[in-house]
Amino acid sequence: MAEAGYLEQGARAHAGHPLRAAGAIFCLLIAMMGCQAAGPALPAEPDASYEITLRPELGEDGRVDAIAVTSRLHGGLKAEESRLKLSAPVVYVNVMGIADRIQDLRVTDKAGPVEFTLEQDDPVPGGFPYFRHWTATRDVELPLDISYRALVQPEGGPSGPAFGIRPSKGGVSGAGAGYMIVPVNTESSLSVLDWDLTEFGPGAVGVTTFGEGRVLVKGPPAALMQGWLMAGQAGQYPPKEEDSHFRAYWLGDFPFDVAAEMTYAKDLYDFFGEFFAYLDPAPDYRVFLRQLDTEPYGGATALANSFMLSRGPGLPEEVGGQSPRSTLAHEMIHMWVGGLSGDHVRTNWFSEGLTTYYEYTVPFRAGRVPMEDYVSGLNALSERYYTNPARAMSAIEIGQVGFNDGRVRHAPYERGALYFADLDSRIREASGGARTLDMLLREVFTLRQSGEVELTIEAWSDFVSEELGVEEAAFIRALHIDGALIYPAGDGFGRCVRGVPAALEAGGEMFEGMRWERVEGVAPEACFDGAAEGASP
Ligand SMILES: [Zn+2]
Repeated sequence: MAEAGYLEQGARAHAGHPLRAAGAIFCLLIAMMGCQAAGPALPAEPDASYEITLRPELGEDGRVDAIAVTSRLHGGLKAEESRLKLSAPVVYVNVMGIADRIQDLRVTDKAGPVEFTLEQDDPVPGGFPYFRHWTATRDVELPLDISYRALVQPEGGPSGPAFGIRPSKGGVSGAGAGYMIVPVNTESSLSVLDWDLTEFGPGAVGVTTFGEGRVLVKGPPAALMQGWLMAGQAGQYPPKEEDSHFRAYWLGDFPFDVAAEMTYAKDLYDFFGEFFAYLDPAPDYRVFLRQLDTEPYGGATALANSFMLSRGPGLPEEVGGQSPRSTLAHEMIHMWVGGLSGDHVRTNWFSEGLTTYYEYTVPFRAGRVPMEDYVSGLNALSERYYTNPARAMSAIEIGQVGFNDGRVRHAPYERGALYFADLDSRIREASGGARTLDMLLREVFTLRQSGEVELTIEAWSDFVSEELGVEEAAFIRALHIDGALIYPAGDGFGRCVRGVPAALEAGGEMFEGMRWERVEGVAPEACFDGAAEGASP
């Protein structure tokens, strides 16, 4: 069920800090749950399946005010289950009141309407998900019909990832987790998702993470919650008629040329595919962009092979500028980095730290980021970490703060990124320049992908210990779980830059940190070649 599949990835901006144009920029990856769309062919549906149709409804003002859902559940309940159960989030990553916005819920089988008793999880601190549960008061006979209307998320409320369904530009967008109630104890292992777009008129598109129009989604009905959606007269890249493994859809007005920025993103995506290599070919990818007129504006958040960038109105000074390119890179990199198995509070230093490390290094290595931006980016990262009030907080303390403080929530991103930079240096040194972090990760990710290893903190520590010939587990625990400070090796971000101790000032206070400076005479393309001693690759 969705609770188990949830893997928090956190935000990239600070609460109350109007970082970049997009306002708070979030990124959140949901564990993939095997919910990728199946191929385009629609084979005979299995006996146990879930058919669902989404119909966005327009209010009198021409804005979407709800999504009407009709669905039919085939098959039976799971073994040992006697009563149908449904669940919907009460809170989903700072989107509040989702279950309360589900109206006109009707469940009917051959014997007529089904009644339910309600239970609710205890609230979870930090804005993290908890659920309401419906249990049928009698036995049911499948197939049965489930229908409801999910109202759009009202304006206002705390900022967070763009899971809530919000209207913009005459359409609607969000994620399944932001409005769905789903059956949770059935044997259904395949959903057929379709759209009724009649209210939008001709030319409208209905698209999810799983594909455009009618799609098959593997997994239980709850897998539908882990997908972005967008419907309406959306902009598209590339044009509809063009075949592409990379597509973008958008609703609203952006201060940058969306198609041009998506060309940049597609090129980067293709570079990442070759760089990370272990997903071959890289899956089809979808980018969703929405511009909202009212808060909360959202941010950038990754789900399986897709992300959503949600933002507010453009400011005059932004017009003609670029999209937040490092954010696009970050969200796409999440797909290859994935995460560790286990509790997200104890493991997001890996998923977010490594994604952040690669966000800073790979576009630079691809030649997309100039040298001076590379150096200033590393200094910004360094400053955020050493002046972060949470720089020495434990993982548990950070998890309890959750979405209430973006600065605190980012500490695992920052110390994680510095850990991986330092680790690259340690691997190069231990192997006399023969090995790198990239090589180790490629092997580890291949094993994870094939199911040969379950990548837990312990498994990761073992891989590193073996690589270095030194025990890693205690270091990982001290740093990422207990919150020790890290000062990475000076060559951790390649040979073309050097990290040196420096006092950093923030808010009138001084912090012992590091600064990064250019090493003259080492070309950007040689930055990650060989080891610090200059061994050839
Ligand atoms: Zn992230």
